[in-house]
Amino acid sequence: MARVAFIGLGNMGGGMAANLAKKGHDVRAFDLSADALDKARAAGCLPVDDAASAVEGAEAVITMLPAGKHVEGVYAEAVFGRAAPSAILIDCSTIDVATARRLAEQAATNGLVAVDAPVSGGIAAAAAGTLTFMVGGSDDGFARAQPFLADMGKTVIHAGGSGAGQAAKMCNNMLLGATMVATCEAFRLAERLGLDLQTFYDISSVSSGQSWSMTTYCPVPGVGPETPADRDYQGGFAAALMLKDLRLAMEAAADAGAATPMGSRAAELYEAFVAKGEGGTDFSGIIRTL
Ligand code: NAD
Repeated sequence: MARVAFIGLGNMGGGMAANLAKKGHDVRAFDLSADALDKARAAGCLPVDDAASAVEGAEAVITMLPAGKHVEGVYAEAVFGRAAPSAILIDCSTIDVATARRLAEQAATNGLVAVDAPVSGGIAAAAAGTLTFMVGGSDDGFARAQPFLADMGKTVIHAGGSGAGQAAKMCNNMLLGATMVATCEAFRLAERLGLDLQTFYDISSVSSGQSWSMTTYCPVPGVGPETPADRDYQGGFAAALMLKDLRLAMEAAADAGAATPMGSRAAELYEAFVAKGEGGTDFSGIIRTL
């Protein structure tokens, strides 16, 4: 078992660090929040005073932070110049592709190997150790990160070179945002046309309109499996996080010169939904605005 630095013990990182400790790793944990540090201690991690103390002597440095600027700050202040040359740097946060690539280059300049490894799956999957990781980096970086990621998830996929993990994450979530809006619209239209919604679900879920947004995460209460719709759209995947991912996708599309008309429309609709104070509502709750 290894010594692991874990920085960012929020909704996701708290559960992930706990799973590494459960697997027997010596987890040196740091967060700006004292409450998060207390929870990490209770979960078997060793809380430390700052990020640099966590990084000292670690074989893996894992970050799970809100955005690119936080990861950049932690790498500059506490990782570069301090991490052992043998340490693998694994950033699991969802950040923009350009920053992920820049960090990997800076790591190489500092004699270190870094991978981007964003996750699919929410807080429950982080706690249960059933996340999916999509990894961007060299073959060597992937091989070194894989055992740590496998201790926190059920699936670990090498997406390609640096930034490819983030690219996969934002393409996937752009698709998710767009299919969710389309699914909500289809249910609303079905209703207006006098269809019974369960009957429409029974037909569409086995027809060509089927998608994850319909069959696994149905936005209509009482139809399909149990979803946040059955809990008044509480819990699940917050609309504010969907908007964050859509904005990252739009940024990446603009940089790459890619046309994403459906993604852009989904981003506008989630922008308006969040502006109405619905950022904490599950993203399927957007059906209430259609
Ligand atoms: P969160 O806000 O709950 O946790 C972030 C933590 O980082 C906080 O505890 C904060 O105190 C800490 N932090 C911020 N700056 C720091 C610093 N400089 N040093 C140490 N700690 C610092 O966020 P979260 O929900 O855990 O999400 C983390 C990342 O995972 C985000 O990039 C998010 O987009 C992504 N993500 C979240 C979900 C989800 O369902 N919550 C799902 C997939 C991916």
